Amino acid sequence: QERLKAFGKDSDFAPKHVHVVGAGVMGGDIAAVCALRGMRVTLQDQSVERIAPAIQRAAKLFERRYKGDARQVRFALDRLIPDPQGQGVPRADLIIEAIFENLEVKRSLFADLERRAKPEAVLATNTSSLRLEDIATVLQDPSRLVGIHFFNPVPMLPLVEVVQGEATDAAVLRRATGFVRAIDKLPLPVKSAPGFLVNAVLGPYMLEALRCVEEGRSPETVDAALVRFGMPIGPVELVDTVGLDIAVAAGKALAGEGATPPQRLLRLVEEGRLGRKSGEGYYRWV
Ligand code: NAD
Repeated sequence: QERLKAFGKDSDFAPKHVHVVGAGVMGGDIAAVCALRGMRVTLQDQSVERIAPAIQRAAKLFERRYKGDARQVRFALDRLIPDPQGQGVPRADLIIEAIFENLEVKRSLFADLERRAKPEAVLATNTSSLRLEDIATVLQDPSRLVGIHFFNPVPMLPLVEVVQGEATDAAVLRRATGFVRAIDKLPLPVKSAPGFLVNAVLGPYMLEALRCVEEGRSPETVDAALVRFGMPIGPVELVDTVGLDIAVAAGKALAGEGATPPQRLLRLVEEGRLGRKSGEGYYRWV
């Protein structure tokens, strides 16, 4: 509780319109959770085809949460608008970026977003491993950028890290924290540092599990041990859930470019076996 108070009084910022860029594993679910809480959401990706799976996933979530109330489900779906051209940007109160973990792509996206967004709109990134400061330098006003770091699966996990970059304005932080509360999640204020807090602890844990697999233990054996110990899911299954490409990027960010990730992890990524989202990783997901 003390930690949650660290930003002082939260604003009661509940954006009416949220624009999410990137309709993948994270962006799609972030958009769905915002629509579930009554916000109008525009969801942008490179094509309608890339947005469609996120809308289908959202429909299933709404059906579960509204217990089959078709009217409520339809209203929530009406609030979630596919927006391949990014037409929602000039109207949004909050813009959340959840595109590929690539600094240059994110920088060029934010330069464009800042030009088109309302001056008072909050600009947020969901990055797990890139430095906020490296993204923010592309902005005319770097104090507008804040990290809003969700965990996967978004609809299930209550914690959201609110990341303060070196330049982030205190009022922007309070608005980000207020938003997280408005979607019924728990904001955890963290400084911009590798892995923030949760992944800084989880990273070495998952890496050790993959080393055990490298040394000949099966993923099932490793996972069963940790589940019996009391973890809700095993560490190898967690890597599959997070995405193997994300795990490699996060590993580099935490341990430095010189670190060598487990060979099997690298090979699976090269083969496009990225975990749950691609249907196969350490496990097959059917
Ligand atoms: P993903 O690969 O599932 O989705 C990324 C989406 O971004 C794709 O649909 C892609 O088409 C789209 N995209 C790429 N460039 C774009 C552009 N210029 N404009 C519009 N759309 C674009 O990735 P993800 O796992 O959802 O991760 C997204 C972000 O969230 C990353 O920054 C990652 O670090 C972060 N994150 C991921 C997890 C996780 O567990 N997967 C958890 C927390 C944070």
